[in-house]
Amino acid sequence: MSVIDLRSDTVTQPSQAMLEAMAAADTGDDVYGEDPTVNRLETELAKRLGFAAALFVPTGTMSNLLGLMAHCERGEEYIVGQQAHTYKYEGGGAAVLGSIQPQPLEVQEDGSLDLAHVAAAIKPDDFHFARTRLLALENTMQGKVLPLEYLTRARSFTREHGLALHLDGARLYNAAVKLNVDARQITQHFDSVSVCLSKGLGAPIGSVLCGSVEFIAKARRLRKMVGGGMRQAGILAAAGLYALDHNVQRLADDHANAQALADGLREAGYEVEPVQTNMVYVAMGERADALKTFAAERGIKLSAAGRLRMVTHMDVSRAQIEQVIATFVEFSRN
Ligand SMILES: *Cc1c(COP(=O)(O)O)cnc(C)c1O
Repeated sequence: MSVIDLRSDTVTQPSQAMLEAMAAADTGDDVYGEDPTVNRLETELAKRLGFAAALFVPTGTMSNLLGLMAHCERGEEYIVGQQAHTYKYEGGGAAVLGSIQPQPLEVQEDGSLDLAHVAAAIKPDDFHFARTRLLALENTMQGKVLPLEYLTRARSFTREHGLALHLDGARLYNAAVKLNVDARQITQHFDSVSVCLSKGLGAPIGSVLCGSVEFIAKARRLRKMVGGGMRQAGILAAAGLYALDHNVQRLADDHANAQALADGLREAGYEVEPVQTNMVYVAMGERADALKTFAAERGIKLSAAGRLRMVTHMDVSRAQIEQVIATFVEFSRN
Protein backbone atom coordinates (compact mmCIF):
# COMPACT_ATOMS: atom_id res chain seq x y z
CA MET A 1 0.00 0.00 0.00
CA SER A 2 1.55 3.31 -1.02
CA VAL A 3 1.20 5.95 1.63
CA ILE A 4 -0.52 9.26 0.86
CA ASP A 5 0.94 11.91 3.13
CA LEU A 6 -1.07 15.12 3.28
CA ARG A 7 0.41 16.52 6.49
CA SER A 8 2.72 18.93 4.68
CA ASP A 9 4.48 19.65 1.40
CA THR A 10 7.76 19.07 3.26
CA VAL A 11 7.40 15.29 2.98
CA THR A 12 8.37 14.91 -0.68
CA GLN A 13 11.16 12.53 -1.64
CA PRO A 14 13.89 13.76 -4.01
CA SER A 15 13.24 12.39 -7.51
CA GLN A 16 15.77 10.23 -9.34
CA ALA A 17 16.65 13.15 -11.62
CA MET A 18 17.15 15.44 -8.63
CA LEU A 19 19.41 12.85 -6.96
CA GLU A 20 21.44 12.62 -10.15
CA ALA A 21 21.85 16.40 -10.21
CA MET A 22 23.01 16.24 -6.58
CA ALA A 23 25.48 13.44 -7.31
CA ALA A 24 26.96 15.42 -10.22
CA ALA A 25 27.36 18.68 -8.25
CA ASP A 26 30.72 20.41 -8.07
CA THR A 27 31.48 21.14 -4.44
CA GLY A 28 33.91 23.09 -2.28
CA ASP A 29 34.01 24.49 1.23
CA ASP A 30 31.16 26.98 1.37
CA VAL A 31 32.38 28.59 4.61
CA TYR A 32 35.37 29.70 2.51
CA GLY A 33 32.88 30.77 -0.17
CA GLU A 34 34.34 28.09 -2.42
CA ASP A 35 31.37 25.90 -3.23
CA PRO A 36 30.59 26.69 -6.88
CA THR A 37 27.13 25.13 -6.76
CA VAL A 38 26.09 27.03 -3.64
CA ASN A 39 27.42 30.20 -5.24
CA ARG A 40 25.44 29.45 -8.39
CA LEU A 41 22.23 28.88 -6.43
CA GLU A 42 22.67 32.10 -4.46
CA THR A 43 23.45 34.13 -7.59
CA GLU A 44 20.64 32.53 -9.56
CA LEU A 45 17.90 33.03 -6.99
CA ALA A 46 19.03 36.58 -6.16
CA LYS A 47 18.83 37.36 -9.88
CA ARG A 48 15.46 35.70 -10.33
CA LEU A 49 13.97 37.61 -7.41
CA GLY A 50 15.62 40.93 -8.17
CA PHE A 51 18.07 41.10 -5.26
CA ALA A 52 21.79 41.89 -5.19
CA ALA A 53 22.71 38.93 -2.98
CA ALA A 54 21.46 35.72 -1.38
CA LEU A 55 22.45 33.19 1.26
CA PHE A 56 21.83 29.45 1.27
CA VAL A 57 20.80 28.08 4.67
CA PRO A 58 19.62 24.70 5.98
CA THR A 59 16.08 25.72 6.94
CA GLY A 60 13.41 28.34 6.51
CA THR A 61 13.46 28.85 10.24
CA MET A 62 17.12 29.84 10.09
CA SER A 63 16.52 31.97 7.02
CA ASN A 64 13.79 33.96 8.77
CA LEU A 65 15.84 34.19 11.97
CA LEU A 66 18.86 35.59 10.11
CA GLY A 67 16.56 37.98 8.27
CA LEU A 68 15.02 39.28 11.49
CA MET A 69 18.40 39.53 13.21
CA ALA A 70 19.97 41.32 10.25
CA HIS A 71 17.16 43.89 10.31
CA CYS A 72 16.76 44.29 14.09
CA GLU A 73 19.26 44.79 16.92
CA ARG A 74 18.64 43.81 20.56
CA GLY A 75 15.69 45.67 22.04
CA GLU A 76 14.19 46.41 18.67
CA GLU A 77 10.86 45.15 17.49
CA TYR A 78 9.22 43.53 14.51
CA ILE A 79 5.52 43.58 13.72
CA VAL A 80 4.21 40.21 12.60
CA GLY A 81 1.05 38.15 12.25
CA GLN A 82 -0.22 36.36 15.33
CA GLN A 83 -0.45 33.20 13.18
CA ALA A 84 2.75 33.84 11.22
CA HIS A 85 5.38 31.12 11.04
CA THR A 86 8.17 33.46 12.17
CA TYR A 87 6.26 34.33 15.31
CA LYS A 88 4.36 31.18 16.19
CA TYR A 89 6.27 28.23 14.75
CA GLU A 90 9.95 29.03 15.10
CA GLY A 91 10.48 28.38 18.80
CA GLY A 92 10.55 32.06 19.63
CA GLY A 93 14.01 32.19 18.04
CA ALA A 94 13.97 35.91 17.26
CA ALA A 95 13.32 36.65 20.94
CA VAL A 96 15.63 33.96 22.34
CA LEU A 97 18.60 34.39 20.01
CA GLY A 98 18.12 37.91 18.72
CA SER A 99 16.58 39.67 21.73
CA ILE A 100 14.07 41.01 19.23
CA GLN A 101 10.64 41.81 20.60
CA PRO A 102 7.74 40.58 18.50
CA GLN A 103 4.61 42.70 18.21
CA PRO A 104 2.06 40.21 16.92
CA LEU A 105 -1.19 41.37 15.30
CA GLU A 106 -4.22 39.35 14.25
CA VAL A 107 -4.07 38.27 10.61
CA GLN A 108 -7.00 39.33 8.43
CA GLU A 109 -9.24 36.98 6.47
CA ASP A 110 -7.11 37.40 3.32
CA GLY A 111 -3.80 36.63 5.06
CA SER A 112 -2.64 40.25 5.27
CA LEU A 113 -2.10 42.54 8.25
CA ASP A 114 -4.36 45.59 8.43
CA LEU A 115 -1.99 48.52 7.86
CA ALA A 116 -4.07 50.76 10.13
CA HIS A 117 -3.47 48.24 12.93
CA VAL A 118 0.21 48.12 12.05
CA ALA A 119 0.38 51.93 12.18
CA ALA A 120 -1.23 51.89 15.61
CA ALA A 121 1.31 49.32 16.84
CA ILE A 122 4.39 51.30 15.76
CA LYS A 123 6.01 52.64 18.92
CA PRO A 124 6.79 56.35 19.21
CA ASP A 125 10.43 57.36 19.56
CA ASP A 126 10.52 57.27 23.36
CA PHE A 127 12.93 55.37 25.60
CA HIS A 128 10.05 53.55 27.24
CA PHE A 129 9.46 51.58 24.09
CA ALA A 130 11.25 49.06 21.96
CA ARG A 131 12.20 50.54 18.60
CA THR A 132 9.91 49.32 15.86
CA ARG A 133 12.12 48.37 12.91
CA LEU A 134 10.43 45.87 10.70
CA LEU A 135 7.18 44.58 9.28
CA ALA A 136 7.23 40.86 8.45
CA LEU A 137 4.63 39.40 6.09
CA GLU A 138 4.05 35.83 4.95
CA ASN A 139 3.05 34.75 1.43
CA THR A 140 1.35 32.39 1.00
CA MET A 141 -0.23 32.71 4.41
CA GLN A 142 -1.96 29.44 5.30
CA GLY A 143 -2.35 28.89 1.56
CA LYS A 144 -3.67 32.38 0.88
CA VAL A 145 -2.00 34.68 -1.63
CA LEU A 146 -1.48 38.28 -0.57
CA PRO A 147 -2.97 40.61 -3.20
CA LEU A 148 -0.33 42.49 -5.26
CA GLU A 149 -2.18 45.70 -4.58
CA TYR A 150 -1.74 45.09 -0.84
CA LEU A 151 1.99 44.58 -1.30
CA THR A 152 2.25 47.93 -3.08
CA ARG A 153 0.47 49.58 -0.15
CA ALA A 154 2.62 47.76 2.41
CA ARG A 155 5.75 48.96 0.62
CA SER A 156 4.78 52.63 0.63
CA PHE A 157 3.47 52.29 4.18
CA THR A 158 6.77 50.91 5.48
CA ARG A 159 8.71 53.60 3.58
CA GLU A 160 6.56 56.31 5.15
CA HIS A 161 7.14 54.88 8.62
CA GLY A 162 10.82 54.10 8.23
CA LEU A 163 10.34 50.34 8.61
CA ALA A 164 12.02 47.56 6.69
CA LEU A 165 9.80 44.96 5.01
CA HIS A 166 10.59 41.22 5.19
CA LEU A 167 8.76 38.43 3.43
CA ASP A 168 8.57 34.90 4.74
CA GLY A 169 8.12 33.50 1.25
CA ALA A 170 8.41 29.85 2.23
CA ARG A 171 5.78 29.30 -0.47
CA LEU A 172 6.56 32.36 -2.60
CA TYR A 173 6.38 30.29 -5.79
CA ASN A 174 2.93 28.96 -4.94
CA ALA A 175 1.80 32.58 -4.77
CA ALA A 176 3.53 33.52 -8.04
CA VAL A 177 2.15 30.51 -9.90
CA LYS A 178 -1.33 31.15 -8.55
CA LEU A 179 -1.23 34.79 -9.67
CA ASN A 180 0.47 33.73 -12.91
CA VAL A 181 3.12 36.43 -12.46
CA ASP A 182 6.90 36.43 -12.34
CA ALA A 183 7.92 35.97 -8.68
CA ARG A 184 9.64 39.34 -8.94
CA GLN A 185 6.22 41.01 -9.09
CA ILE A 186 5.92 39.93 -5.47
CA THR A 187 9.50 40.24 -4.25
CA GLN A 188 10.12 43.72 -5.70
CA HIS A 189 8.25 45.21 -2.74
CA PHE A 190 10.47 43.69 -0.04
CA ASP A 191 13.86 44.47 1.50
CA SER A 192 14.41 40.78 2.16
CA VAL A 193 12.76 37.52 1.19
CA SER A 194 13.14 34.00 2.52
CA VAL A 195 12.25 31.15 0.15
CA CYS A 196 12.00 27.44 1.03
CA LEU A 197 13.32 24.94 -1.48
CA SER A 198 12.09 22.03 0.63
CA LYS A 199 8.34 22.69 0.47
CA GLY A 200 6.43 22.39 -2.80
CA LEU A 201 9.62 22.78 -4.82
CA GLY A 202 10.58 19.30 -3.67
CA ALA A 203 14.21 19.68 -2.57
CA PRO A 204 15.16 17.63 0.51
CA ILE A 205 16.80 20.50 2.41
CA GLY A 206 17.40 24.19 2.09
CA SER A 207 16.15 27.74 2.07
CA VAL A 208 17.54 30.93 0.61
CA LEU A 209 17.52 34.42 2.10
CA CYS A 210 17.70 37.29 -0.40
CA GLY A 211 18.53 40.95 0.17
CA SER A 212 21.11 43.68 -0.43
CA VAL A 213 24.85 42.96 -0.41
CA GLU A 214 25.24 44.58 3.01
CA PHE A 215 22.24 42.78 4.46
CA ILE A 216 23.41 39.38 3.23
CA ALA A 217 26.94 40.01 4.53
CA LYS A 218 25.41 40.60 7.97
CA ALA A 219 23.20 37.51 7.63
CA ARG A 220 26.26 35.44 6.63
CA ARG A 221 28.04 36.43 9.84
CA LEU A 222 24.90 35.58 11.83
CA ARG A 223 24.58 32.25 10.02
CA LYS A 224 28.02 31.27 11.28
CA MET A 225 27.05 32.41 14.77
CA VAL A 226 23.95 30.20 14.92
CA GLY A 227 25.83 27.21 13.53
CA GLY A 228 24.52 27.25 10.00
CA GLY A 229 27.79 27.45 8.07
CA MET A 230 27.92 24.34 5.90
CA ARG A 231 30.85 22.92 3.99
CA GLN A 232 30.37 20.92 0.74
CA ALA A 233 26.76 22.05 0.63
CA GLY A 234 26.77 22.04 -3.16
CA ILE A 235 25.11 18.63 -3.17
CA LEU A 236 22.12 20.31 -1.47
CA ALA A 237 22.28 23.47 -3.55
CA ALA A 238 22.19 21.29 -6.67
CA ALA A 239 18.82 19.95 -5.51
CA GLY A 240 17.63 23.54 -5.10
CA LEU A 241 18.81 24.53 -8.58
CA TYR A 242 17.12 21.45 -10.01
CA ALA A 243 13.92 22.38 -8.17
CA LEU A 244 13.97 25.95 -9.51
CA ASP A 245 14.43 24.68 -13.05
CA HIS A 246 11.88 21.86 -12.97
CA ASN A 247 9.40 22.18 -10.14
CA VAL A 248 8.02 25.71 -10.22
CA GLN A 249 5.35 25.61 -12.92
CA ARG A 250 4.15 22.19 -11.78
CA LEU A 251 2.92 23.78 -8.53
CA ALA A 252 -0.20 24.52 -10.58
CA ASP A 253 -0.91 20.74 -10.47
CA ASP A 254 -0.80 20.82 -6.66
CA HIS A 255 -3.21 23.74 -6.68
CA ALA A 256 -5.58 21.88 -9.02
CA ASN A 257 -5.36 18.80 -6.80
CA ALA A 258 -6.13 20.85 -3.70
CA GLN A 259 -9.15 22.35 -5.47
CA ALA A 260 -10.33 18.88 -6.53
CA LEU A 261 -9.94 17.64 -2.97
CA ALA A 262 -11.91 20.60 -1.61
CA ASP A 263 -14.68 20.14 -4.20
CA GLY A 264 -14.96 16.42 -3.47
CA LEU A 265 -15.11 16.90 0.28
CA ARG A 266 -17.64 19.70 0.01
CA GLU A 267 -19.81 17.47 -2.14
CA ALA A 268 -19.52 14.82 0.57
CA GLY A 269 -20.93 17.31 3.08
CA TYR A 270 -17.73 18.51 4.73
CA GLU A 271 -17.20 22.13 5.66
CA VAL A 272 -14.22 23.22 3.58
CA GLU A 273 -12.61 26.66 3.46
CA PRO A 274 -12.06 28.25 0.04
CA VAL A 275 -8.83 27.02 -1.57
CA GLN A 276 -6.31 29.26 -3.29
CA THR A 277 -3.12 27.21 -3.56
CA ASN A 278 -2.03 23.85 -2.15
CA MET A 279 -3.75 23.88 1.25
CA VAL A 280 -7.17 22.56 2.11
CA TYR A 281 -8.68 23.34 5.51
CA VAL A 282 -11.61 21.25 6.72
CA ALA A 283 -13.65 21.76 9.89
CA MET A 284 -13.41 18.38 11.65
CA GLY A 285 -14.04 19.53 15.21
CA GLU A 286 -14.17 16.62 17.65
CA ARG A 287 -13.93 14.03 14.86
CA ALA A 288 -10.33 14.95 14.04
CA ASP A 289 -8.67 12.17 16.05
CA ALA A 290 -11.07 9.50 14.83
CA LEU A 291 -10.52 10.60 11.23
CA LYS A 292 -6.75 10.52 11.63
CA THR A 293 -6.86 6.91 12.84
CA PHE A 294 -9.42 5.89 10.21
CA ALA A 295 -7.32 7.42 7.44
CA ALA A 296 -4.05 5.97 8.78
CA GLU A 297 -5.53 2.47 8.58
CA ARG A 298 -6.13 3.17 4.89
CA GLY A 299 -2.63 4.48 4.17
CA ILE A 300 -3.44 8.18 4.43
CA LYS A 301 -1.41 10.33 6.79
CA LEU A 302 -3.27 13.30 8.22
CA SER A 303 -2.66 15.70 11.06
CA ALA A 304 -5.18 15.57 13.91
CA ALA A 305 -6.68 19.04 14.19
CA GLY A 306 -10.17 20.41 14.57
CA ARG A 307 -9.28 22.72 11.72
CA LEU A 308 -7.64 20.02 9.64
CA ARG A 309 -4.98 21.17 7.17
CA MET A 310 -4.19 19.00 4.17
CA VAL A 311 -1.36 19.99 1.86
CA THR A 312 -0.94 18.76 -1.71
CA HIS A 313 2.52 18.27 -3.24
CA MET A 314 4.40 16.50 -6.01
CA ASP A 315 4.19 13.08 -4.36
CA VAL A 316 0.37 13.08 -4.34
CA SER A 317 -1.33 12.25 -7.65
CA ARG A 318 -4.85 13.08 -8.79
CA ALA A 319 -5.78 9.40 -8.46
CA GLN A 320 -4.63 9.50 -4.84
CA ILE A 321 -6.74 12.62 -4.27
CA GLU A 322 -9.75 10.59 -5.42
CA GLN A 323 -8.74 7.87 -2.97
CA VAL A 324 -8.62 10.43 -0.15
CA ILE A 325 -12.07 11.76 -1.06
CA ALA A 326 -13.44 8.20 -1.08
CA THR A 327 -11.95 7.63 2.38
CA PHE A 328 -13.63 10.77 3.74
CA VAL A 329 -16.92 9.64 2.22
CA GLU A 330 -16.54 6.26 3.89
CA PHE A 331 -15.67 7.95 7.18
CA SER A 332 -18.74 10.15 7.09
CA ARG A 333 -20.93 7.04 6.69
CA ASN A 334 -19.48 5.45 9.82
C1 LIG B 1 8.02 25.69 6.56
C2 LIG B 1 7.94 27.14 6.76
C3 LIG B 1 9.03 27.89 7.22
C4 LIG B 1 10.39 27.30 7.55
O1 LIG B 1 10.43 25.99 7.72
P1 LIG B 1 11.65 25.02 7.99
O2 LIG B 1 10.94 23.78 8.33
O3 LIG B 1 12.45 25.59 9.08
O4 LIG B 1 12.43 24.92 6.72
C5 LIG B 1 8.88 29.23 7.35
N1 LIG B 1 7.73 29.83 7.07
C6 LIG B 1 6.66 29.16 6.62
C7 LIG B 1 5.41 29.90 6.28
C8 LIG B 1 6.73 27.79 6.46
O5 LIG B 1 5.67 27.12 6.02
